[in-house]
Amino acid sequence: MKILKFGGTSVGSAERIKGLLQIVDPSERQIVVLSAVSGTTNALVEIGQAFLDSRRDEAKKLIKSHKDKYEGLIAALFTTEEGLKKGKELIDYHFNLIEALGNDLFTPTEEKVILAQGELLSTTLWHFHLQEIGVPSVLLPALDFMKIDEDNEPVVSYITEKLTPLISEHPDNMLFITQGYICRNSFGEIDNLRRGGSDYTASLIGAALGAEEVQIWTDIDGMHNNDPRIVSGTKPIANLSFDEAAELAYFGAKILHPQSVFPAQKYNVPVRLLNTMDPQAHGTLISKNGGEKGTIRAIAAKDGITAIHIHSTRMLLAYGFLRKVFEIFERYKTPIDMITTSEVAVSLTIDDTNNLLEIIKEVELFGKVGVDEGQTIICVVGDFRANTHGYAARVLDAVKHLPVRMISYGGSDYNVSILLDSTHKTEALRSLHTRLF
Ligand code: ASP
Ligand code: MG
Repeated sequence: MKILKFGGTSVGSAERIKGLLQIVDPSERQIVVLSAVSGTTNALVEIGQAFLDSRRDEAKKLIKSHKDKYEGLIAALFTTEEGLKKGKELIDYHFNLIEALGNDLFTPTEEKVILAQGELLSTTLWHFHLQEIGVPSVLLPALDFMKIDEDNEPVVSYITEKLTPLISEHPDNMLFITQGYICRNSFGEIDNLRRGGSDYTASLIGAALGAEEVQIWTDIDGMHNNDPRIVSGTKPIANLSFDEAAELAYFGAKILHPQSVFPAQKYNVPVRLLNTMDPQAHGTLISKNGGEKGTIRAIAAKDGITAIHIHSTRMLLAYGFLRKVFEIFERYKTPIDMITTSEVAVSLTIDDTNNLLEIIKEVELFGKVGVDEGQTIICVVGDFRANTHGYAARVLDAVKHLPVRMISYGGSDYNVSILLDSTHKTEALRSLHTRLF
C-alpha cells in the first residue's frame, strides 16, 4: 500500500482537484491524504483569531468572503445538479458550523474545531467529485484514528489499531481518502498536528500501516541542495538518508514538515518527494540508505532566529549550570536549536520568542545576558563524521569574509551550522554554494 499526500495548491482550484486523477491511479490500493485548499487554513486562523478577540463582525465578514470562494469552487467542480447540490450542502454545513462556533463562549478548543474544517472540506469535495464521475473511493475520517497524547505526540500504535479495521471493512476498495493535519488529542477533542502537518499525517499513516512508500506531492521537483529562490543553479537531490532529510527539513527546506521524517525513519518507510508539474521526474527519495559517504549534500537556512548569550563565572567548573538554564526554556516550552559553550559562557538560539522577556528575566539570575535578534542559521548537511576531514574547514573558509556569530560542529554527524546576522544570509548561501558544489 502506498500513501500519497497532496498539499493545498494541488487542491487549490476545481481544475487542480480534477487533475488529481492524472497522478492518482484509482486502480491501485492506496490512501490519499489531502491538505486544505490553499489559503483556507490561513483564513481559518484569521477567523479563529477574530472570534478569540471578540471581533465578531470581522469574523463573520471573513467567513462570508471565504465561503464565496468555495461557492465558485463547487460551481466549477461539479457538472451535475446532484453533485452541485451535495457540494452546496457541504459548504453550507461547514461554514454554518464555523459561524455557530463563534456565537457562544469561544476558547482555543472551538478555535481548533474551526481549524479542522479546511481538510474536512477538501477531502469531501474530492470524494464527491469522484462519485460524480463514477470513480469509487472511501473517505476515512482522520478524527477516528489520528491521535496525539498529553505531550502532543502522535500515538502510532493507536493509529494502527484504529485504522486497520477501517480499511479492512472495504476489501475491494482501492482508493481511500483522508484528511491531513487534523487529529484528536488526549481529551478526545479535535486538535491538529500544527501548521504544515499534513505531511506528518501521511508519514504517520505510512508508519502505522508499514506502507511500501509515502509520496509527498508538491510543486517542486524535490529537495534542492540550496535555496533556489536565493541561489541560482541549485539541483534537486536524488537520494537522502533519513538523518540528512531531518536536518534539512528542520532548517527551512519548507517542502517537508520536519517531524514527518521521524515516523518514516523509525518504521523504515521510504518517503518520496514528487512534483505534480513533472510527475515522471525522480524527485527526492528519502530512505535508510539514501546517504552518500564523504560528500556535502545540501545547504539550508532558517531565518527569524534569536541568539541568547549568557555569561557567568558561576559556570566555571560547576555542574548543573546548564541544566538550570535549560529548565527555564523547558518551563516556557521553548525549544533550543543551536548551542555553543565556553568555560564561562553559553550561547543558544531559539526561534519561538513568545516568552522571550520572561525567559530573559529568569536567565539573568545566572549571569549577564545578551540578546541578538534577526539571526539566520545556515546549515550545511553532509558527511561530517569524525573520521572525515577538511569539510568543516571548507565550510568556514566559504564564510570567512562574513561575521559569524556561532558555529556548531560535532552535534550530529551530518551537519555543521553557522549563525549569522540575517543581512548576510544571501551572501553566505551563495558563497557556500560556489565553494562547496
Ligand atoms: N492545512 C494545514 C496548513 O495549512 C496543513 C497542511 O497544509 O499541511 O498548515
Ligand atoms: Mg506543506
